[in-house]
Amino acid sequence: MALNWLNRPYIRICLSVLAFFIVAALGVLAISWQTSQGLRRDTAASLAQSVRLVDMTLNNASTAADSVQHLVGHDCDQDVIQALRWEVARVPNVRTVNLYRGDTIYCTSLFGKKIDYVSTNKYAGETLLLMSGNPVTPGHPLIAYRRDIKGNGILIGVDGYFLHNILELLSTHAYLILQVGDQWMDSKGKIHQGEGWPDGTKMVLASARYPYNMRLVIRNSDQWRYVFDYAAVSLVLFPLVSIFIALMTYMLLGRVGSPISTLKDALAKKQFVPFLQPVVDGTNHRLTGGEVLMRWQHPQSGLIPPYQFIPLAEESGLIVPMTRLMMAQVRDQFGPIAAQLPDDFHFGFNICAGHFKDLTLIEDCKAFLNAFKDKPIRLVLELTERELIESSEITHSLFSALRRMGVLIAMDDFGTGHSSLTYLQKFHIDILKIDQSFIGRIGTDALAGHIVDNVIDLAKRLQLIIVAEGIETQEQIDYLTPFHLDYFQGYFFGKPVPATEFMEKWL
Ligand code: C2E
Ligand code: CA
Ligand code: CA
Repeated sequence: MALNWLNRPYIRICLSVLAFFIVAALGVLAISWQTSQGLRRDTAASLAQSVRLVDMTLNNASTAADSVQHLVGHDCDQDVIQALRWEVARVPNVRTVNLYRGDTIYCTSLFGKKIDYVSTNKYAGETLLLMSGNPVTPGHPLIAYRRDIKGNGILIGVDGYFLHNILELLSTHAYLILQVGDQWMDSKGKIHQGEGWPDGTKMVLASARYPYNMRLVIRNSDQWRYVFDYAAVSLVLFPLVSIFIALMTYMLLGRVGSPISTLKDALAKKQFVPFLQPVVDGTNHRLTGGEVLMRWQHPQSGLIPPYQFIPLAEESGLIVPMTRLMMAQVRDQFGPIAAQLPDDFHFGFNICAGHFKDLTLIEDCKAFLNAFKDKPIRLVLELTERELIESSEITHSLFSALRRMGVLIAMDDFGTGHSSLTYLQKFHIDILKIDQSFIGRIGTDALAGHIVDNVIDLAKRLQLIIVAEGIETQEQIDYLTPFHLDYFQGYFFGKPVPATEFMEKWL
């Protein structure tokens, strides 16, 4: 019951929202992990593939260089020019084949004999140079492949178009570039210088054959762009799970302490009704009173006995308004027909120990007695011996106020608890109700007979009014008669019944 506060609507909503966000946060983590793992795997594969393809392109240049290597140092005559042109025509990707001496190009496939300057020191690894264009096709990127043989050599122009295609093809999930020296080509075929590539997770793979690197950057935006490709299931699953968990949290919290809410609801709907059991004179067996016993008239479950709800009612404090409801109902039902009640008729109500700290009990008793002004009755409050009342100023003032009003106090279930004689005197008990467990033992065996005799003997010594509870057989009555007890109560005389039935049967 200590967890009852969890049941409050705003707490339930807050905790449900919290549960939603915790699961959703886990989902975001899982999705981002799945995506990043998937992306890394795929982009690493793209990177390796790009190196393979660029190597293949450059292999073509290398093949062309092999074919014309014997011409290095030769004069640029018609045969040599023809041989250079033949390579351009024969080998894929190769755009130009040129011969140079020192820092001067002297023979080209395109123009034949032509003198042009070449800055050989710019070549990465003395082999490769990225160019954004050349005088023939400015703005059209190409990569130059150089093979140097003792200061002379071959320069082969490879069309950047192929490289650009490779980059474009493999850069779908990340930013991919081809880096040669301090120059690089992006997937659009543009040539850059320096280190201007974007931020993100970087990967680099160098070719084993040629002096270039393929670099790859997974930008943060890439992560989220491909969430659907790598975490589609989680993307659908986690929001659903979050909503489910939040709803479950809301529902389960609603169940915490809900028996109390149910009791409250039942109280508001006045589903607790009084049943009355007759109490008769110990000698002539005539009706002298009635004990009020609570029942829960449940719309679905029917009549619920008190042991199923009284403990919770006491624990939650709801027993106080519930007892008040009992008193009010008995008052309203019997007040108008009070004249039909036998003289000195008493009504007994069961009061729990917690209720004895509540001064409103005085008002309730007053209102009850007032309803029987024309034909006064006795009001009995039954306190069970199993839970003793704490001695405090409030309880003492309550006891004395009740005494002044003429309310009688009965010690219920006498013999089962542990009340000392001083306790019985301190609280001015008027009536003892011998517990039904003792009455039930009558006639079972000799030892049981001794116990019953002793309890009755103890009760008589206290010189209080004595009620024997739970009488079911003639044998029990015969046994008890010589003790001259004041009152009898039990199924033998009558079971607890609704007020109307009680009136029909007994009045
Ligand atoms: P209790 O105050 O000792 O009430 C007597 C119980 O014994 C009643 O059970 C009654 O039906 C049962 N009884 C009476 N005669 C016989 C009999 O001859 N044989 C047997 N076997 N039983 C008999 P009930 O009505 O089920 O109530 C059980 C307990 O619930 C009560 O014991 C009382 O402690 C508690 N209770 C009932 N109504 C209220 C109430 O309005 N307020 C409080 N605080 N407790 C209540
Ligand atoms: Ca009782
Ligand atoms: Ca009892």
